[in-house]
Amino acid sequence: MADAASAVRVRPAVVPAFLCTPVACQLWVGMAFVSAMVLPVALDHRVGEGHTRHEIWTAVAIIFASVLNVEIGRVLEGGAAFSQRPHKALSTWAFACVIVLSVGWLLPVVAACYAHARWRGLRVPLWKWIGSAAYVVVAGVAAAAVVHAVLGEDSLTRGDGLCGMFAVLAGTAAFLVVQTLMFHGSAYLNVADDEVWLRQTLRQPTFYLTEVGVLLVGGLAAAVWIASPWFLALLLPVFVLAQRAALHEPLRQRAEHDDKTGLLRFDAWDRQARVGAARCIRHERPWSVLFADLDHFKLFNDTWGHLAGDMALESAAAVIRDELREGDLVARFGGEEFCVFLPGVGLEDGHELAERVRAAVASIDLPGAQALTVSVGVATVQPGCGSADRAGLGSPDLTDVVRSADRALYAAKEGGRNTTRSQLAM
Ligand code: GH3
Ligand code: MG
Ligand code: MG
Repeated sequence: MADAASAVRVRPAVVPAFLCTPVACQLWVGMAFVSAMVLPVALDHRVGEGHTRHEIWTAVAIIFASVLNVEIGRVLEGGAAFSQRPHKALSTWAFACVIVLSVGWLLPVVAACYAHARWRGLRVPLWKWIGSAAYVVVAGVAAAAVVHAVLGEDSLTRGDGLCGMFAVLAGTAAFLVVQTLMFHGSAYLNVADDEVWLRQTLRQPTFYLTEVGVLLVGGLAAAVWIASPWFLALLLPVFVLAQRAALHEPLRQRAEHDDKTGLLRFDAWDRQARVGAARCIRHERPWSVLFADLDHFKLFNDTWGHLAGDMALESAAAVIRDELREGDLVARFGGEEFCVFLPGVGLEDGHELAERVRAAVASIDLPGAQALTVSVGVATVQPGCGSADRAGLGSPDLTDVVRSADRALYAAKEGGRNTTRSQLAM
């Protein structure tokens, strides 16, 4: 057992995870890394002039702000280390750096901020972390070019600050476009399984909205720093509030999903399925609820142990999810029971789908354990059985349909298990 565990730990050192990714992905990350190393120095018009004391203090202040940012985030998250988070607002400080310092400072500042954030908790493979830092540096270089093109020789806060504001907006846009492009490259040139989280994140508009907010905070901090550094202290509570707001979405996601299977929890499922059912009734479409319960699972646990039981449960959840369409909602009802809301699915299709789910579970290959089977019950509401205004009150209500699917499930159990029963919900 100890040998197996240490073999797992040693493997990444022998075969670096990065070399297991497709060549196109390696080239993409490699290109970003080389660009991040070369561009800031090559494009810095002040290179070789030496650094003033003010510049050094400014760089230290930016790194300190990032450290504070990450530490406050840790306190807000209860010190937990997460494998994935959209960001720790690290681009805030890269963007602030772009505005207040010459572009050559980007590399050391981003390297320091990223090194600290990694040390304090983000658990992603090292190559992804380095790649992500490189993307931020390259995006920063693009933003610096745009900011300086808009400002010319002017200072950000000169006059009424209108020109400075446009420079920040244009720089934000350039940063976001380049960073998005770089992350899309990484997400789609790598194998899908390794980038599930990133691909999902990049599809969500909230990611881009948050990123714009994060960059504008960096622009604002830079303007305040130029005008009067002490006023930054007044911005601190704003940063804390912004970080709390950014935590809302990941925490909501966690609250709605079951840790073990990753499926929805029943109460979140119930809320969403009610909306879907009302929509089906309004559009006179059928809908079904599927209820599935693993067979003799207590015996499975007693024979193979609860850890093997957990693995079987996770596998069953995964294959059920795989059999469904995008719009279907699947939840872990409790223990070893699952329920699925199927919009637009009538009696025949519901039965067919349930059979597919049953066969998929029966085909799960659990090394060293007995075959797993599931019994499935389906209840269907035909079009015209209710109206939108009766969706929450009249028959058939979602709860009635779940009850009906549960009865069908009991019939499947009585029918010998590893079988499917379907019925109309009325
Ligand atoms: P049936 O075919 O009638 O459904 O029999 P069953 O043994 O599956 O049903 P029963 O309700 O007697 O037992 C359910 C078992 O599911 C008991 C419990 O230990 C197990 N179980 C529930 N949740 C979990 C879990 O999260 N992990 C593991 N490993 N087992 C679980
Ligand atoms: Mg059960
Ligand atoms: Mg069971």
